[in-house]
Amino acid sequence: MGDVVVIGAGIAGIQTALDLANHGIVVHLIDREPSIGGHMAQLDKTFPTNDCSMCILSPKMVEVAQHNNIRIYTCAEVESIEGAVGNFTVTIKKHPRYIDESLCNGCGDCIQICPVEVYNRFDAGIGVRKAIYKPQPQSVPDIVIKDADHCIECGLCYDACGLDAIKEKQEDTTLRIMAASIVIATGYTVFDANKKAQFGHLALPDVITSLELERMINASGPTGGRVMRLSDGTTPKSVVFIQCVGSRDMSINRPYCSCVCCMQAIKNAMLIKEKNPQTEVTICYMDIRAYGKGYEEYFERAKSMGIGFLHGMPSDVIADREGMMIQVENTENGEVQVLHPELVVLSVGISPSIGTGKLAEQLGIPVEETGFMKPVHDAVETVATIKPGIYIAGTIVAPKDIPDTVAQAGSAAMLAFIDAIRK
Ligand SMILES: Cc1cc2nc3c(=O)[nH]c(=O)nc-3n(C[C@H](O)[C@H](O)[C@H](O)COP(=O)(O)OP(=O)(O)OC[C@H]3O[C@@H](n4cnc5c(N)ncnc54)[C@H](O)[C@@H]3O)c2cc1C
Ligand code: SF4
Ligand code: SF4
Repeated sequence: MGDVVVIGAGIAGIQTALDLANHGIVVHLIDREPSIGGHMAQLDKTFPTNDCSMCILSPKMVEVAQHNNIRIYTCAEVESIEGAVGNFTVTIKKHPRYIDESLCNGCGDCIQICPVEVYNRFDAGIGVRKAIYKPQPQSVPDIVIKDADHCIECGLCYDACGLDAIKEKQEDTTLRIMAASIVIATGYTVFDANKKAQFGHLALPDVITSLELERMINASGPTGGRVMRLSDGTTPKSVVFIQCVGSRDMSINRPYCSCVCCMQAIKNAMLIKEKNPQTEVTICYMDIRAYGKGYEEYFERAKSMGIGFLHGMPSDVIADREGMMIQVENTENGEVQVLHPELVVLSVGISPSIGTGKLAEQLGIPVEETGFMKPVHDAVETVATIKPGIYIAGTIVAPKDIPDTVAQAGSAAMLAFIDAIRK
C-alpha cells in the first residue's frame, strides 16, 4: 500500500486525511501555516445551524494530531513533485519555527514575557499578538513559533523557557516523501477590500470586512465577542452589510459568485441582533443566494428577527458630519434611500489561495480563468484532475460552504485511497 500526500490542512485537507487514515493509509498532511485548521478556525458560528465552528473543527484537529497514520508538516510548502500515479516523489521545504518542536510543550511562558506586539493575521487585522506566539488558541501542533521579522532578540523568552526550546538560528529543511497519490486542498483567500476603495476599508475605521467581523464576534477573539466600532469602542446602533464586494463584479474582472457571502451575512446579522436586539441591521444585496439545505428557512428566520433586506447596491461609503453615509437605490420601488450606519461590513468574496498558480504549474494541472484549479469535469468529475493520481477538494476548486467542502474531501479521499491500495 502507498502513502498519500495532502497539501493544505483546512477542513478539506483535515477531512481527507482522516478519511484515508481511518482506512489504514499513511497520510502526510502539509500546511504552510504554523497550525492546521485553515479558515474554519477563524469563524465564530457556522450557518445554517449556528454551531460553534471550533466545537466542530477542534476535535478533528486533535484527532489528526493523535492519529497513528497521520504525519503533520506545518510551516511547510511543496518544492517539487516528480513521478506519476503510484510513485510520486514530493519534495517539501519546512521553514524555520525557531523552536525545537520536540522540546516545546506549549506552556506559553515565553509569550507572556515577550514585549513585542504586532498585527495578528489570525484575527484578520483587528487584534495583536506577540513576536513569539501560538497561531490560534487551539493550535495544532500546540507549540509556539518565533516571528524572526519582528523579534528584537531581547532574550527574555530564552530565559523564560526552562526547556531551552527557543532557537536563535534555524535553517529551512528539505524532506522527500514517496506517495501513491496527492490531494490538493489549499483553499481560499478573501478578496482584498482595498481594491474597492470607494467602500472605505482601512480609510474609515468603522468599515470592516466579513472575516474581521467573524473574529470580532467570536468570544475568544480580540474584542471578547463584542461587536464594536473600532473608532471609539462603542456598540453600533446601526450596521449595514454590503454584499458582493469582489464578487459578480465585471469592473474588476471577477464575474463569479462567491457562494458563501449571503449566508455568512445573514448568520452574522442574526448574531448581532441576538447580542444587541436594539441594533438596526440592514443587508444591501443584489440577490440573496440561499441554495443549500435549510438555507431558505434560515433567511426567513432572519427576516422574522427584524433584519432589513434592501434590494440595491451602494456605490460607495462616504464620511460625513454624522459619521458615515450610504446612498442606495431600492430597486424594488425605485426610491433612493440614505443610510447612516455606525458600522459597515463588507461581505468580501473568495479567491484561490495565494500561490495557487505556482502550485498548479508544479503539479502540471490547469487553472480556470478565475484562478481556481480545474477539475476534469465541472458536473460529474469534480475532484479528479487531468493528472492521474492528483485530486482537488474544497475551495481550491471553487467557492463553497463547509458541508460541500467536507463532501468533496470524502470523494477525493476515496479516489486517493484506490491509488494507494493499488500500489
Ligand atoms: C467570512 C466568512 C464566513 C464563513 N462562514 C461560513 C459558515 O458559517 N458556514 C459555512 O459552511 N461556510 C462558511 N464559510 C466558508 C468556509 O470558510 C469554507 O467553506 C471552508 O473554510 C473551506 O475550507 P478549505 O479547507 O477548502 O480552505 P481553507 O480553510 O482556506 O484551508 C486551506 C488550507 O491550506 C493551506 N494552504 C494554502 N496554500 C498552501 C500551500 N501552497 N501549501 C501548503 N498549505 C497551503 C492554508 O494555510 C489553509 O490551512 C465562510 C467564509 C467566509 C469568508
Ligand atoms: S518555547 Fe518554552 S516557554 Fe515557550 S511555550 Fe515552548 S516550552 Fe513553553
Ligand atoms: S527575543 Fe524576540 S520573541 Fe523572545 S521575548 Fe524578545 S522580542 Fe519576544
